[in-house]
Amino acid sequence: MSPSFITLSPLNQMKETINETPVHIRQILRTVVQDHGPHCVDLFYRALFRHERAAIFLEHETVEVKMRPQLLSWIQSLFSTEADQAEELSELQCRVGAVHAQLEIPTDIVVYGIYIIKQALIEGIRTSTPDKDDVITAIIYLSNMMDFAFKFMIKAYDINFRKKVESDEAFRLVSLGHNISYEKETQISTFSGWSTQAFYCLCKGHAADLPTIADSEFGLWLTHKGVSLFKGTHEAIEIQNKVRDLDAKILAIHQSGIIPSEFATELHKTITNLTFLIGRVFRHLEEVENGRDPLTKVFNRRFLDVVIQNEITFALTHEKPFSLIILDIDHFKKINDRYGHLVGDEVLCFVAEIIAANVRANDFIFRYGGEEFLIVLTETTVVDGLACAERIRRALAEQPLTLSSHDQVNVTLSGGVTSFEGETNSRLLIHQADEALYKAKNNGRNRIVTTHHAS
Ligand code: GH3
Ligand code: MG
Ligand code: MG
Repeated sequence: MSPSFITLSPLNQMKETINETPVHIRQILRTVVQDHGPHCVDLFYRALFRHERAAIFLEHETVEVKMRPQLLSWIQSLFSTEADQAEELSELQCRVGAVHAQLEIPTDIVVYGIYIIKQALIEGIRTSTPDKDDVITAIIYLSNMMDFAFKFMIKAYDINFRKKVESDEAFRLVSLGHNISYEKETQISTFSGWSTQAFYCLCKGHAADLPTIADSEFGLWLTHKGVSLFKGTHEAIEIQNKVRDLDAKILAIHQSGIIPSEFATELHKTITNLTFLIGRVFRHLEEVENGRDPLTKVFNRRFLDVVIQNEITFALTHEKPFSLIILDIDHFKKINDRYGHLVGDEVLCFVAEIIAANVRANDFIFRYGGEEFLIVLTETTVVDGLACAERIRRALAEQPLTLSSHDQVNVTLSGGVTSFEGETNSRLLIHQADEALYKAKNNGRNRIVTTHHAS
């Protein structure tokens, strides 16, 4: 490798790597791919089907018909390309990265998949030639080419994922018409229009005229706009389920022409429920529109990727550090089980307040999951990030929380800390903090762990 190698663009680095690798080494790789490629694809899908979070992206028939041949041809192209075709090869990796972004496949799964392929091919190389030096050179070549492929993929992934987040958000705002209050009033009124009509038909005994919700103005709005507006809330799923169940009963009434005696009570109950849920989901949205979690008032995760991406850009352009903390309340389920959900909610608000009191105005606090908080500490080294997380942990652990009922409850949390070190994929950064958190949980909870060797 020439000394100026690292200053070359990844594309030129790849060209140079191909050019500088002896022809017979590249031939070894070609033969290995030819002989072991299908087995390698087998191992890859077997491993991914067993991987809980990867398996949800896979469907047996599509894998058999489409994905297996595509993966094989991807491996073949990676090791049969000559330097003058490197550009085409890099474009292929970008297309793969863009597809991953579109499907929102987490990068740690891609890394895992690449690892499986690498291991399988290394095994193939080992058995392909008795010459130890050739084996080593071939493994280095394999690793370099896989790394290039990943680099191109990840770059395209970042760009496309960001676009997707922005366009999802843009669509939400457009479909919202920028005015939730207006939408809320209109939809509560169209829903009420449908319920009046349903009760009228019921009173008149007009079984055939009972309107389904799906065909009403409210139902059409729900299908085409509401579902994307309400996306991510559990109320949305409840609303859809209740609408589906009630409509199924109405359709059965149409068919039989008979209105069961209990239907009026059921209709009344469902309408009361739906009115409550619709009101709540809109209130929720009013908060969400401001990027806030309705309960704790810290940011929700909607803009999390955008915020981290902005910090990555800032860190790269200004050569500043930044850190990321994930905090997870310990045994929170037990608090809920023992004191009830409302107390659980109160605890969540307390924890959010403690976090807010221990970070600066230029930091970002997100409610990352049910009882998980993610903090982006701007311009903060890992050492300071660790100190901050420790401060929060201690503040919570050292004194019990006093509930509105005057009861006192002891709460602790565990945390993972990581900091930016050039990784441009926000999800990978979060993943690192998550892994540290996992260690903190495994090491006994009520502690903070970092991915870095803080000195
Ligand atoms: P661990 O120490 O391993 O983190 O245990 P845990 O019990 O905290 O974790 P687990 O993931 O088993 O349970 C989290 C619980 O948080 C389950 C869920 O019911 C509860 N939860 C999630 N969101 C909310 C919420 O908004 N309010 C309340 N009260 N509970 C919530
Ligand atoms: Mg959790
Ligand atoms: Mg927890």
